[in-house]
Amino acid sequence: MSATQDILSANAQYAASRKAEQLPMPPSKKVAVLTCMDARILPEAALGIKEGQAHVIRNAGGRAPEALRSVIISQQLLGTEEVVVVQHTDCGMLTFTTPQARQLIATNLKLDSGAAKQHLDSLDFLDFPDLEKNVKADVDFLRTNGLVKGTKVRGFVYDVKTGALKEVA
Ligand SMILES: [Zn+2]
Repeated sequence: MSATQDILSANAQYAASRKAEQLPMPPSKKVAVLTCMDARILPEAALGIKEGQAHVIRNAGGRAPEALRSVIISQQLLGTEEVVVVQHTDCGMLTFTTPQARQLIATNLKLDSGAAKQHLDSLDFLDFPDLEKNVKADVDFLRTNGLVKGTKVRGFVYDVKTGALKEVA
């Protein structure tokens, strides 16, 4: 059975056991959490988020520059007023550089020219060598961005071993 099949059977059980109800679209806690796509972070469990309460914006690294569009939509169209940035220990983004990623991908996909190669060569993978510095930089990016409302942005490192958050920005 493929992973997609597993997901489909889990969903069938979920939908069957769930009470049919539709909550309002704007998050009730007026908060957006920005975090990494890492499979070891379960925001609902680790951060106590329930359905309808918060936006959870995820990408590789939990990087603010990539999440900006979603943060703006969250705040301006759906009324969130706080951003919690959560990056984490043992993040894959600490293990490579953009030139290394480009080279690996070009080899994997056998790209030596053409539109895909050009696109790859212009992609910034937003890798970072220092976790705490990066959280600070991403918090700063949001705090100083003219399209982000207010300054209620806080930054944390999540320890994937202990599950504990440490505030760093
Ligand atoms: Zn990560």
